[in-house]
Parts: sequence; structure tokens; C-alpha cells
Amino acid sequence: VNLANQIAAGEVIERPASVVKELLENALDAHATQIDILIEAAGTKLIEIVDNGDGIDDDDVEIAFRRHATSKIIDRQDLFKVRTLGFRGEALPSIASIADVELTTSTGQQAGTAVHIKGGDILAKKAASARRGTRIKVTELFFNTPARLKYLKSQQTELAKIVDIVNRLALSYPAVTFHLVHNDKQLLRTAGNGDVKRVIAEIYGPSTAQKMLPVTTEDNDFQVEGFVSLPELTRASRDYISVLINGRYIKNFQITKAIIKGYGSKLMVGRYPFAVINIKMDPLLVDVNVHPTKQEVRLSQEETLVALITTAVQDVFTRVNL
Ligand code: ADP
Ligand code: MG
Repeated sequence: VNLANQIAAGEVIERPASVVKELLENALDAHATQIDILIEAAGTKLIEIVDNGDGIDDDDVEIAFRRHATSKIIDRQDLFKVRTLGFRGEALPSIASIADVELTTSTGQQAGTAVHIKGGDILAKKAASARRGTRIKVTELFFNTPARLKYLKSQQTELAKIVDIVNRLALSYPAVTFHLVHNDKQLLRTAGNGDVKRVIAEIYGPSTAQKMLPVTTEDNDFQVEGFVSLPELTRASRDYISVLINGRYIKNFQITKAIIKGYGSKLMVGRYPFAVINIKMDPLLVDVNVHPTKQEVRLSQEETLVALITTAVQDVFTRVNL
């Protein structure tokens, strides 16, 4: 069983940042409003995530570490209208198969549960505090998969990838307080008051936030809102274009291209906008079940949406006479 989990881990958990992503998505799925992220040595030594979300019932804790155990899919239909970030039930077993994991969780209704799992083996399980929420501590990541460990880049690069994930999720969930600490140094704290522009300021600084212009448009099927940077604030990579569908950040090349196209000749060669775009649509029109990392999505009526977004971005610049 651990072998199957390790294989799944190979797909889902490439590096410390993948662990951070999966654990943060779980916290968000559990309706957390405050998430603390403690990292040491770019995640190779410690990844600890504390949330104040729903917690896991004592009876369900061991199940959560079993492959394809998910509390998020009730019937087959749910696969086609996924609203939660996770739904495959692969992350916890994958992480536990290649690391040392201590999880303490409580629904706040009764005594909580603490489990200690290493390399897929449950080493201990006992009662714990009844404080609502979940704390998960991951150490010795990739201890039994030396090839993975060797493939990791410098601490600086691995940390940058973690910061990038946290930033994206903080931008996607402006109503949640994200607190990121690396080697005892605070890297981010968001207010969690629901204001995307404030999160932009918290991450990139107030002068960057000032150079972001609001975009908003809608038609019968789509509601689009967000911020795009002035052409003077462009970046050297597309990575700063964040696209969310119903609050889930996704990758869709056509949508990214549509945003870039809205800039027309205002963009210098090799430069890309900085943008955060949230699209609300009927979940039935989104198929997120394309890849295990769940980032790649297929959309019905993609062409309509793409045209709508390009026009909306163009309009932003017409409005400010650029
Ligand atoms: P998925 O997110 O795809 O359902 P995971 O392996 O990430 O699968 O998690 C398995 C299950 O464990 C989840 O369905 C959820 O019920 C529970 N779980 C994991 N993390 C948390 C958390 N932070 N708070 C509450 N429940 C959690
Ligand atoms: Mg998950």
C-alpha cells in the first residue's frame, strides 16, 4: 500500500512547495479563516500548518490517510461540480508515505485526536486537545525517496516556490488570514478582511498595489473581476498572472493569453502583466479532473470567456486613456 502511495506522491508531491499547497488547500476546504504556516530550511526540515477550520472527527482521522479517502465527494455527480480544492483523497496518504507526519485535529465538539505517521506506518494515535482546527507537522520530507531529495533545488529556489503558493492562495482567499514564517522570520501576514487590493499591497508593497487597475465584466454565463497591472508594472514571466475560477486558482493557457492580448502593443517583448482575475461561473461548465494537481481545467464555452476577458482588459486601458 505504501508503494502505491509513494507512486501517487511522485505525481502530487514534487517538492516542499507541493506539500504546502496540498495542506493549505485542505485548510481552506475546511473553512479555515486563519492559517499559520511555519517553515524551516525551505520545508526540508519543517512544514507546519495550523488552521482554525472544521477539524477531522476522531473516527475519520485514520481514514483520511487512506488512499482515495475523501470526505468531499458524496456521489459521482460531485466530480463534475467540484467546489472544494481537494477531492481526490491523495494528498495526505501521499505525504505520509514519504515523510514524518504528526497531525492533531479536533472538530471542537469532543476530545481531539493526534496521530503520528511515518513512511505510511501509523506509529501512534491518542486523544488530544479539543481546540477546533487542525495542526499538521511534516518533517523528514522525502526521507525514503532519496532521488526526490536529490532533485530539489537550492533552499532559495524551494523557498521561493513556497512563497509563491502562499501568495497565490492569499490572493485567492482575501478573507483568510495567512501568516507565513520561515526560519523564525515573518514573510507574510495578511489582514484577512476580504480586500484583494490590500493583499496585493501586503505581498508586493503599496506602490505595486497602486499600479493595479480594477477589471470587471459579465455576461449571462460569466462574472469576471480582479486587477491588472499598468503596463509599466509588467514582469518577466507569466507566473504573475493568477486566474481563479470560483475561487480555485487554475491554469488555463487560453485565459492567460486572453489577458495578455488585452494589453495589445502596450506590452514590451518578453514582458507579462501582473494580474489577479476571478471568474465566477456555473461549476457544471468546469472540468477540473484533468490532472492530479487539479490546476489544469477544461471549460465549456471557453471562446466566449476568452473574448470577454480580452475586451475587459482593453476597456481598463481605454478608461485610463492608455
Ligand atoms: P482531499 O483533499 O482530496 O479530500 P486529502 O488527502 O488532501 O484529500 O485529505 C483527505 C481528507 O482529510 C479530506 O477529505 C478531509 O476530510 C480531511 N482533511 C485533511 N486536511 C484537513 C484539514 N486541515 N481540516 C479538516 N479536514 C482535513
Ligand atoms: Mg486535499
